[in-house]
Amino acid sequence: MTEKIKMNIPLVEMDGDEMTRILWKMIKDHLLEPFIDLKVEYYDLGLEKRDETNDEITVQASNAIKKYGVGVKCATITPNADRVKEYNLKKMWKSPNGTIRAILDGTVFRTPIIVNNIKPFVSTWMKPITVARHAYGDVYRNVEFKVEGPGKAELVFTSAKGEVTRQTIHEFDGAGVIQGTHNIDNSIESFARSCFNYALDIKQDLWFATKDTISKIYDHRFKDIFNEMYEDEYKERFEKAGIYFLYTLIDDAVARVVRSEGGIVWACKNYDGDVMSDLVATAFGSLAMMTSVLVSPEGYYEYEAAHGTVQRHYYNHLKGQATSTNAMATLFAWTGALRKRGELDGIKELVDFADKLESSSIRTIEEGVMTKDLAPLCNTLNKKVVNTEEFLLEIKKRLEEVL
Ligand code: NAP
Ligand code: MG
Repeated sequence: MTEKIKMNIPLVEMDGDEMTRILWKMIKDHLLEPFIDLKVEYYDLGLEKRDETNDEITVQASNAIKKYGVGVKCATITPNADRVKEYNLKKMWKSPNGTIRAILDGTVFRTPIIVNNIKPFVSTWMKPITVARHAYGDVYRNVEFKVEGPGKAELVFTSAKGEVTRQTIHEFDGAGVIQGTHNIDNSIESFARSCFNYALDIKQDLWFATKDTISKIYDHRFKDIFNEMYEDEYKERFEKAGIYFLYTLIDDAVARVVRSEGGIVWACKNYDGDVMSDLVATAFGSLAMMTSVLVSPEGYYEYEAAHGTVQRHYYNHLKGQATSTNAMATLFAWTGALRKRGELDGIKELVDFADKLESSSIRTIEEGVMTKDLAPLCNTLNKKVVNTEEFLLEIKKRLEEVL
C-alpha cells in the first residue's frame, strides 16, 4: 500500500440523518480514509444537532463553504409535523438545503450516473442529461386570489417615486381566479452565470428555454439576460471549449431533449425544472443514481445525493436487518467534492483517485454486483444482489486493483 493522498485545504463535511448517515460513515471507513489523509471541517447537520443549536450549525456550515469553496453534504431530514413529534423538536426547522441555497445563492444541477447495463427509458440517451433549476420566484412566490363574482382585476405597480401604472388583467363576468408572480433580474443573472460556468466546467452544451413568444415581457426578460450574458462574457470561452449555447422555446426544447443523445446541461425556469428534473430522473432509471451539486455564481460548490435519508431502510436497519441501500449517489457526492478540491488546489492524485473510485463503482454494477433497487432495472443475466456494506466492499476490491 502506497502512502495516503495528502490534502491542503479542508473540505466542508456536512453529516446528515437516518440511513444516509449510516452510508456516510461506511463510505468514509471503507473507501476514503484508507487512501486519503482526509482533511475536513466537520459540521453535523443531523436533526438532533440542528435542534440543539437552533439551526445555527447549518448557517455555520454554509459560511464555511464560502470560506473554503467546496462542501459535501449527506441527506438530511426536512422536519414536518411527524418529525417534530418523533425527535421532540423545539421548532419545525427549515429545510437545510433551502438555508444553504439562500446563503450561497446557488443553482442546483442534477445529473444521473450512467451504467451500461441499465438502459434509460429513452433509447437514444447515451450520455447524462443535467437539469439545472432556477430556484427563485415565479409560481413558487406567487400571490393568488379567488374571484367570487363579477369585477375587474388589475395589475398595479407603484414605483418608489410614487408613479402608478395600471393594466386590466380581466373583466370578470363571474367567478374565477387570478395570480401574480414575479422574478428579479439579479436572481436570473445569478442563475444564468451559474449555468454558463457549470457548462464550461464540465464541457457540455447548455440549453435554455422559456415561452417568450407568449410571455413577451416576463419570459422574454429571461431570454434577454441569458443571451446578453452569453454574447458579452461567455461566447468566446464556449467556442474555445468546443461547446455551444442554445436558446429555444420550451416545447421545442422538450422535443429536442427526447431525441438527443444526452450530454447536455438543460437550464430550466423554476416550474419547468421542478417537473423536468423528476421526468429526467425517472427516465434514467433510479433516484438512487442521481447526483446533485449546488453551484454559486461566485464559484462555490456543494455536492450531495439527490435522494433523501431513505427512512424506510433506516427503520429496518434499527431492527437489526441488513439493508440493501444504494450508496452510489452519496459516494459520487464525495468523489465530486474531492475532484473539485483536487482541481482547485492542484492535487492531481486527488483528481485521479476520484476518477478511479467512480470508475470502480460503475464497474462493480456493470459486472452485475448491485443493490436491490437496481436489480429490476438491470439487464445483466447473473446478477448478484448484495447488501449496503457488501456493495462498498466490492467497490473497494476493484478500486485496489487500479490504484
Ligand atoms: P427518500 O429518502 O429519497 O426515499 C424514498 C424511497 O426511494 C425509499 O424508500 C426507497 O424506496 C427509494 N430510495 C431512495 N434512495 C435510495 C437509495 N439510495 N437506495 C435504495 N433506495 C432508495 O425519500 P423520503 O423517504 O420521502 O424522505 C425521507 C427523508 O428525506 C425526509 O425526511 C425528507 O425530508 C428527506 N429528504 C432530504 C433530501 C436532502 O437532504 N437532499 C431530499 C429529499 C428528501 P424503497 O422504500 O421502495 O426501497
Ligand atoms: Mg418536484
